[in-house]
Amino acid sequence: MENTVHHLDKSVAMLSNLDDATLLRVATALGEEDAVKLIGILKNAEEITDDEIANKTSIRLNSVRKILYRLYDHSLVSLRRTRDPKTGWFIFHWKLQPDQLEGFIVSQKRRVLEKLNTRLEFEKNHDFFYCYTPGCKRVPFEEAVELVFRCSTCSKPLMHYDNDKILQALTKKVETLRKELGE
Ligand SMILES: [Zn+2]
Repeated sequence: MENTVHHLDKSVAMLSNLDDATLLRVATALGEEDAVKLIGILKNAEEITDDEIANKTSIRLNSVRKILYRLYDHSLVSLRRTRDPKTGWFIFHWKLQPDQLEGFIVSQKRRVLEKLNTRLEFEKNHDFFYCYTPGCKRVPFEEAVELVFRCSTCSKPLMHYDNDKILQALTKKVETLRKELGE
């Protein structure tokens, strides 16, 4: 019993550490904006049914269930099933799994960090050329040569593009994520 209480305290402490930015990151990773609202509600409830969540939010029951199943796929929520004694239908009780959420966030951050590092290396190792027309794309030197320094979209001349600002921004992002991951 004491162990259970201790574990619960630990989970609650972990949850209070989950700021909105982190929740937003989880929701974005899941590709669902309503997931933020939903996790926020799960966060403040010990256990809750999908009906109750739909009533508390403006989210339709179908969408609530869709998001819950997606969270369930990532083990971010647990599910308990009971039967309504009157109707005989199943009632689903959902509960947030804070420990899993932490792990999920860490692995998401690692994935983002990997992508940023790849991008940073690419920016570092290439010289870029650009027509300076909004909406057109920068191209690396090798491609600019093939195009005889003419933009393939607007056919204006391609000129050297200084990517220092991009490099700085990427480096800063990488450093922040590394710090957050304790690397
Ligand atoms: Zn162009």
